[in-house]
Amino acid sequence: MAVLSHPLSGHRRLVLLLATAGGIVLVLAAVVTLAVTLTFSSFATSVRPAGIFLPTEEDGLIASDTALSVDDDSHPALARLDPALLDALRAAQAAAEADGIRFDITSGWRSVDLQRQLLADAVHTYGSEDVARQYVATPDASSHVTGQAVDIGTLDAQLWIIEHGRAWGLCQTYANERWHFERATEPGDECPEPKLDARG
Ligand SMILES: [Zn+2]
Repeated sequence: MAVLSHPLSGHRRLVLLLATAGGIVLVLAAVVTLAVTLTFSSFATSVRPAGIFLPTEEDGLIASDTALSVDDDSHPALARLDPALLDALRAAQAAAEADGIRFDITSGWRSVDLQRQLLADAVHTYGSEDVARQYVATPDASSHVTGQAVDIGTLDAQLWIIEHGRAWGLCQTYANERWHFERATEPGDECPEPKLDARG
């Protein structure tokens, strides 16, 4: 047999073994690198491992140092809003501009995953799911997830919309969230009484 007629010396066998092991390590490293790259790339939605979630713009996350205007619809938080809500916001913003008011959108459409994380963060912050639910709805109840709500950043803009928004159907829908607006009435009609909080 070939092996018997040309036996590998112990040294050669060791070298061969090390080379093979080295090759396997390189292949494993490449596989791990590829997996990590895919996980944290923009394709993350389909290959997210359980337990790890890093929200991105694709989830509707707006960075805390970013102020989106109603025209920044390249951002999914705006692009995935109900078009009727976005139209109403733009028309209202045009009118508010005359009063020197700018709407800074701090939150709009959100993915289910982002909403779930916000609720988990709120539970952590308030130390109780019951209190957290007063501020953050569950993913299946949130009007942000369906693209039917926006949060507006500055007090003067919030007060402006509370006073004038109904002309475009824009209403504050939760009494404890003066930043949260939805299209909740027909343009020009009265807004419904805000609900007490996000528990509905
Ligand atoms: Zn909101």
